[in-house]
Amino acid sequence: VRSTFSLNRSVAPEAASPTSVAPSSTSRRRRRRLLAVPVLGLLAAVALGACQVPGQSNAINGDNRPTTISGVSNGKLPASDLVTINATCRTYKQVAGSLAGLLSAANKAGIRLGTNECYRDYAGQVYQRSSWCTRGLCANAAVPGYSNHGWGKAVDFNVAGGPLAFNSSTFSWLMLHAGTYGFVHPNAVPGEAWHWEWVGDGGIMHGTPVKPDLWTWPMRIGAVGEDVTHVQQALKAQGLPVTVDGHFTSNTNGAVSMFQINHHLPVTGTVDLATASALRIFS
Ligand SMILES: [Zn+2]
Repeated sequence: VRSTFSLNRSVAPEAASPTSVAPSSTSRRRRRRLLAVPVLGLLAAVALGACQVPGQSNAINGDNRPTTISGVSNGKLPASDLVTINATCRTYKQVAGSLAGLLSAANKAGIRLGTNECYRDYAGQVYQRSSWCTRGLCANAAVPGYSNHGWGKAVDFNVAGGPLAFNSSTFSWLMLHAGTYGFVHPNAVPGEAWHWEWVGDGGIMHGTPVKPDLWTWPMRIGAVGEDVTHVQQALKAQGLPVTVDGHFTSNTNGAVSMFQINHHLPVTGTVDLATASALRIFS
C-alpha cells in the first residue's frame, strides 16, 4: 500500500517523508525508521478500518467526513465563523486558509479551479433540495440541516466556470493534491465530481490534522504569527521595504499596498487570495 511519492510535506511526524525511501540511504537507524513508517501507516489504516491514501495523512480518506461545529446549527453559522474566499464562496474560518492554498496551488499548476458554492445556509439547503427533488433527483442534495455545506466545510468546484467531471485532468489533479490541503472527495457522494469536503482537522475519523487554520485569512493589520512572517519574507524578496517580525503592522500594510500597485491588484493592504497567489506564498 506504500508508494514513493509524497504529497504531504508539512504535516505531522508520522506522515514524514515517504520520498526518503531511496536506495542511496545507508544508515541503519535511518533504515529502521523507514521500515517503521509503513508499519505504523498500516496499523493506522487498520485502526481506522479503511485504506489510507499513500503518502497522505490518514485523515485523507474517502470514507472520512467533516466534523460538525459545536454550539451552532448547520446552515446557521454566525458571520464571525465565516470567511469570504470569493464572490461565490464562504467557508468556516478554519477551512479558509486551506481552500485558499488549494486554489492557489491549482492556479500555479495551470488549472482554472473555481468555486460554485461553499457555505450554504439553511434556506439555501431547502431551496437546493426542493429543486433537485422536482427533477426526481433528491439524492443530489442533502436533507436540509444535514449538508456539509451547512458547516462551511464542503466546496463545489468548477473548472473555468464549467462543470468538473470525474474523467477530467482537474479531477485527477485534485485526487493527487487536494489532500495536501485537507480536502477529500467523499465516497458517500459518488455522483458529484465537483463536491469536495474538508477534513483538515482530522474529520470524524480523528485522523492526523492537515493544515487547519493555515492562515489568518484574509490577513490584515493585527495578525501575528508564522504566516505573517512568510508574507513579509515574500514581500522582502520582491525588494519592498518591510520589517520581517511576524507582526502585521502598518509597515506590512504599506508594503502589501505597494505590491498590489505593482501587480495591478485592488489596493487594500490586506492579503487576500489574489494577493497571496501573486506573492506565491503557498509554494
Ligand atoms: Zn456540494
